[in-house]
Amino acid sequence: MTATATVRTSIEAAAPESLRHVQRIVRGRPTSDGAGVKLTRVIGQPGLDTLDPFLMLDEFRSDSASDYIAGFPEHPHRGFETVTYMLAGRMRHGDNQGNSGLLTPGSVQWMTAGRGILHSEMPEQENGLMWGFQLWVNLPARDKMTAPRYQDIAPEAIPETSPSAGVTVRVIAGTLNGVSGPVSGIATEPVYLDVRLEAGAKVELPLPATHHGFAYVYEGQARVGDGASAQLVRGDLGVLTAGTIVSVSAGDTPARLIVVAGKPLNEPVAKYGPFVMNTQQQIVQAVEDFRAGRF
Ligand code: MN
Repeated sequence: MTATATVRTSIEAAAPESLRHVQRIVRGRPTSDGAGVKLTRVIGQPGLDTLDPFLMLDEFRSDSASDYIAGFPEHPHRGFETVTYMLAGRMRHGDNQGNSGLLTPGSVQWMTAGRGILHSEMPEQENGLMWGFQLWVNLPARDKMTAPRYQDIAPEAIPETSPSAGVTVRVIAGTLNGVSGPVSGIATEPVYLDVRLEAGAKVELPLPATHHGFAYVYEGQARVGDGASAQLVRGDLGVLTAGTIVSVSAGDTPARLIVVAGKPLNEPVAKYGPFVMNTQQQIVQAVEDFRAGRF
C-alpha cells in the first residue's frame, strides 16, 4: 500500500441526523429445526420473509431439555453467514474440517460458510435453560464461494459500554460510544448490539444511514423510536425506518433487546434450505456438490 492510498478525501458530506422509528412490528412463529429443536422464527417466515441482508433470525429459549436436546446434527451451509449468540446454556460446534468449539453464555460465533461447510451444533447439557439467537446474514455474490471462516468470540472479548445512565450495551459488531465490537471483515458492515436498560433508562444509538435495521425485545418491554408502533414487548421485532439514530427507552421495568443493522446487498436471492445463492443454477450446483461430498 502506498501512503496516498490511505489519504481520505477532505470533503465529506455532513449527513444530517435523522431519527429511525418502528415501521412495523413482527411476531415470530413457533417452529422446529435441526433434529427437532423448538424455536421461534422471527425473520425467514411469512410475516417477514427477509430483511436484506438478513435472511433468518431464530430465538431458541427453553428450560425443557426435550425442546433442544436433539440439537442440529451434521448439516451443510453455503453462500451466507450464521451468527450464533448464546444468552444461556452451552452448545458444542464441530465441522468436517476439524474445527471445534464450545459456545458458552455470552459468546458469539460468526461463521462465514462461504463455499461450504458441514457442521453440527449440539447442546452440551442435559437440563437447564438453553437461550440464544441464530441470525443468518447474506454474503454478496462476489463472496459466496469464499473460503469458510470462523470468528469464535469468548464472552470476555465482547466489550461493554454505558452510553447513558442505566444503560449497558455489549458491542458485538459495529461501534458505539467509541467502543468497537470484535467481529471484523464482514461485507455487510454489521452492527450488532445487545442493549440492557434499567427501568426509566434511555439511550440513543447511532446506526449507519445506509443500513437496514431491526430491534428485537427479548426481555421486558421497550419504546423504540417515536412512531405509532414504538411500544415493543418481549418477542416483538421492530423493523426500523431509515435514519441515523434510534432512541430506545425502558418504562417502569428493565428491558433487554438486540439492535442489529446491516448494509443491504440488493442482489437476487435463490434460497434452498441451507444454501443461499443468487441463481437457481447455483443452487443446483450446491446440491450436486453436497451430494458428491465436495463440501
Ligand atoms: Mn448450522
